[in-house]
Amino acid sequence: MTNNEFKQWAHELVEWIGDYLENIEQYPVKAQVEPGEIYSALPGMPPLEAENFKQIFNDFQQIIMPGMTHWQSPDFFAYFPANNSNPSILAEMLIAALGAQCMIWETSPAATELEERVMNWLRDTIGLPDYFEGVIQDTASTSTLAALVTARERISDYRTNENGFRGEPAYRIYASSQTHSSIEKAVKIAGFGAGNLVKVGVKDDLSMDPDRLAVAIERDLAKGYMPCCVVATIGTTGTVAIDPLKAIGEICSRHNIWLHVDAAMAGTALLLPEYSWLIEGKEYIDSFVFNPHKWMFTNFDCSACFVKDAGRLIKTFEILPEYLKTRTRGKVNDYRDWGIPLGRRFRALKLWFVIRSYGLEGLREKVRDHISYASWLADRVREHADFEMTAPLSLNTVCFRYKPAGMDEKSLNIINEKLNHKLNDTGAIYITHTRINDIYSLRMVIAQTNVKRTNVEKAWELITGMAPAIQ
Ligand SMILES: *Cc1c(COP(=O)(O)O)cnc(C)c1O
Repeated sequence: MTNNEFKQWAHELVEWIGDYLENIEQYPVKAQVEPGEIYSALPGMPPLEAENFKQIFNDFQQIIMPGMTHWQSPDFFAYFPANNSNPSILAEMLIAALGAQCMIWETSPAATELEERVMNWLRDTIGLPDYFEGVIQDTASTSTLAALVTARERISDYRTNENGFRGEPAYRIYASSQTHSSIEKAVKIAGFGAGNLVKVGVKDDLSMDPDRLAVAIERDLAKGYMPCCVVATIGTTGTVAIDPLKAIGEICSRHNIWLHVDAAMAGTALLLPEYSWLIEGKEYIDSFVFNPHKWMFTNFDCSACFVKDAGRLIKTFEILPEYLKTRTRGKVNDYRDWGIPLGRRFRALKLWFVIRSYGLEGLREKVRDHISYASWLADRVREHADFEMTAPLSLNTVCFRYKPAGMDEKSLNIINEKLNHKLNDTGAIYITHTRINDIYSLRMVIAQTNVKRTNVEKAWELITGMAPAIQ
């Protein structure tokens, strides 16, 4: 493709993107295709000769688009969001054009220094103490893995990095029963062994019970295990339960245990001063992760990872082969030492564009709107005779179910599952479910960048309209 052709197509694609986003509500939110449908529409062999872009783009529209789920639709209420926004898309265009690999300061000083600056902005805005330093990772899964490996090296005084686990006691990791699967994955990858992940029981609101945490730690100590790290969740994936950080932190501090906080989705609420209570006890935190790529309108991937003592993180991950030795070593941040991959995308740019384009007040307004729409929906659920809340309302997430009179629990689960599928098959909205103490619950997350009250109203109308017809 020549440069002239590139320019022409770039203009055409920008037009297409603008139209797509403008008309996104006309697409079925959830892709309405069968397994294998897209695969079999694609040729078995790659082309030998160059194909023209017109044909490629045409196939994108004909074959690929029908198999896409539209995460940027304001009728998307499933999972947690993976939002973008116009300034973020523009930044991604520039990031792609520059194509810089930002592993160390020398490979693009602006990328490193912009990352330092925007991460300090974020740290101060969400209210973490100023001794925290930040790094952008690809995902919360990676941030948590980096934190757990650092906690491992701290407790073993860097012996595990050298010798593996030989001669070490069993290191124990604690998290609530509601914790995200990425914690268990990190425990496995870091070599602790899934059997050393202690799932602590929760209270009625599904937050970690600190008394049970204390008991679990005491019991482990008596058995000769070595408590290493507690993972507290601010906003669990199922119901956005908030673990009590202060009580957990006090226990960690008493036993010299690393405290990692997973606030992947809900961390964005810390932009709002009225939600600073979410991290009450922040003085106990050793590492903290939240994803601007979820609720802060920044394209996937962009995970903000903060550590109290960056020196420990660096000591854990540092490597210095000859070809990476530079004259600026020690004077600048080489972010390749702050995590797992060597190569790094220029993610700071999209965060910078988003924060500047909305302004903090603009971001806050959106987040507050989402929270208020969730609260509106929860009120509708509560006042409806045939629906009930199945978990306390938390931030932007409403868990509820259809509950007509005279139906047993088993039938209620079946009917709600059917309702969920039927709603999604309409293509009008997309919602997913969670199970709470074996209660099948519909779960609506109201957090898409462009969601309005009218989208939530439309969804509620559809749900209440369809539910009575389910057999
Ligand atoms: C989404 C989520 C994760 C995983 O995030 P990734 O960035 O996809 O790895 C981890 N923890 C919680 C609480 C989440 O909501």
